[in-house]
Amino acid sequence: MERSALSDRAPGPVLLSRSDIQKRVLEMGREITRDYEGRAPHLIGVLKGASVFHADLVRAIELEASFDFIAVGSYGLTTRTSGEVRLLKDLDESPEGRDVLIVEDIVDTGLTLDYLVQCLQMREPASLRTAALLDKPSRRQREVPIDYVGFEIEDRFVVGYGLDYGQHYRNLPDIHLLGN
Ligand code: 5GP
Repeated sequence: MERSALSDRAPGPVLLSRSDIQKRVLEMGREITRDYEGRAPHLIGVLKGASVFHADLVRAIELEASFDFIAVGSYGLTTRTSGEVRLLKDLDESPEGRDVLIVEDIVDTGLTLDYLVQCLQMREPASLRTAALLDKPSRRQREVPIDYVGFEIEDRFVVGYGLDYGQHYRNLPDIHLLGN
């Protein structure tokens, strides 16, 4: 695949195709539907990376569901975390008393999800669970429970399906390794 004229790196080979992703997201939706039977999950998507996954996951859940979004600081132009998590956009509605499911694109060091879990726990939801499309367990610095995982991957930087490199490549339908 061609490098964007505005980026110094191009997307490399496909790691997970759109059909692999679609199949797995439907399975995750079925699992969540089963686990939340009789309740209305409140899915909080972590912007911007999880926006595409969130949109597909909510439609794979056959229950009444509501959603909200939160935004935290990301990598910017590098492929390694700065170790600092910043809240960029808070929720629109209070999660108090709701069955909250945090929807994250990828858990790497775990710092972001750990921060979000602590931040949301303080706001007294009825329950709090986490879903991540991708998990890179080899890079973990904080042990944070992920209740629903799409795929475990190795320590490689990936782009597409919402995931960016310096704000590029989020709209690719497949997940690619970042190339040169
Ligand atoms: P953590 O705080 O767990 O280290 O990182 C979480 C955030 O880092 C993710 O929400 C995502 O925005 C970013 N991130 C981690 N690994 C990757 C990756 O391989 N590709 C991209 N595009 N972002 C990543």
